[in-house]
Amino acid sequence: MAGATGTLYVVATPIGNLHDISARALTTLRTVDLVAAEDTRHTGRLLQHFGIQRPLFAVYEHNEQDQLPQLLQRLRNGTQIALVSDAGTPLISDPGFPLVRACHAAAIPVVPIPGPSALIAALSVAGLPTQPCYFAGFPPRKSVARQAWLAEHQYQTATLVLYESAQRVQACLQDLCDIFGADRPAACARELTKRFETIVQGSLLDILQQIGPQPKGEIVLLIAGDTSERSTADLETDHCLRTLMAELPLKQAVALAAKLLTQPKNTLYQRALTIQQQDRK
Ligand code: SAM
Repeated sequence: MAGATGTLYVVATPIGNLHDISARALTTLRTVDLVAAEDTRHTGRLLQHFGIQRPLFAVYEHNEQDQLPQLLQRLRNGTQIALVSDAGTPLISDPGFPLVRACHAAAIPVVPIPGPSALIAALSVAGLPTQPCYFAGFPPRKSVARQAWLAEHQYQTATLVLYESAQRVQACLQDLCDIFGADRPAACARELTKRFETIVQGSLLDILQQIGPQPKGEIVLLIAGDTSERSTADLETDHCLRTLMAELPLKQAVALAAKLLTQPKNTLYQRALTIQQQDRK
């Protein structure tokens, strides 16, 4: 690992089962000068489990921008740094993106040490098409924002993958049933690699019913892509209408869409009413 500048190693760690850590991840964590960790206590316990003692440095969502100059300086001075998050692959709904981007800008080598991620683990067992897939991360927490966000994804033809917390998963599934249709095929992967691992497959309604009111643990939701016959042109029309309707009264939005898309106003007006109803649900 010697060299004029240091290297940033982006190291994946287990999402539950500690045996999932790779030999290369262990070697890297043993040999770097510094481990930049989302939660130093959490990572400290992981390192202790594997008999590793390395200096730890906290890099989490709310301090990573401030810590960038210091980390970059250390890398420029030759320090070898491993970046880890609490679980899984850093940057995947976890901190690290500003640091990786800054390293590229500063010509500092960035090396992946791949391993567990709930996204890939869930996709590999969900029984839904794995490509194309669209990873959207966590939906917004508040109901109105979540519904608008889901509505933007309802005609996605790729398998949609979402992370969701146990507290909000029931509300999210209810919104998914309302917006995507209760019979849309889906899967729910809970507590992957852990003792109470469960993978449920079925319609969105099946999953909503099986998940119950107070599910526990960590959850990935996967929703099959839209297979209805809507063409790309239809999707573009909806997108145009939705964008204009967010800014203008309905009639003005339709009139402007008719000009932009050179489509009849009447047809667009009917479509706009349908969209309005769907998005209000
Ligand atoms: N970086 C991680 C990765 O690579 O998967 C994800 C971190 S994100 C902050 C945490 C979310 O990932 C959880 O809320 C859950 O949606 C998902 N997750 C993490 N571990 C999981 C597990 N063992 N089973 C199911 N989902 C998990």
